[in-house]
Amino acid sequence: MSTEYTIPSELKSAVDGKCPRCRKGNMFKAPLLSFKSKKMHENCPHCGLKFEKEPGYFYVAMYVSYAFVVAELVSACVATYVLTGNLESPWLYLSVAVAVAILLAPFNYRYSRIVLMYWMTPQFKFQEKYFLLKKEG
Ligand SMILES: [Zn+2]
Repeated sequence: MSTEYTIPSELKSAVDGKCPRCRKGNMFKAPLLSFKSKKMHENCPHCGLKFEKEPGYFYVAMYVSYAFVVAELVSACVATYVLTGNLESPWLYLSVAVAVAILLAPFNYRYSRIVLMYWMTPQFKFQEKYFLLKKEG
């Protein structure tokens, strides 16, 4: 029997919304593009890591999300300018900004938490033993 295995890269696991510690369990209960996309597991279904490590932990994600929104709005406004050359109507930019903020809200919500857990929480470092953990049942 071969015991070879490949551990998914950090970036791929993050993009897929996998648990930062084992890279196997899903953080979220539903895919990004679904109505339930905000539902998150309390504990990793694979290794049992408690995602909200302390009360208020996810508030930090709001700051990450804020940074996302600013970056997206700036890009959206630049893109609007490049595409339309409009410099007169603030309403055009406002509508684009609102549309972008609404459309990307699920994305920002999910990836702000992912960024927080992957790159801002040293305790959640990947550990191979959790990846190799056999799930009972
Ligand atoms: Zn896990």
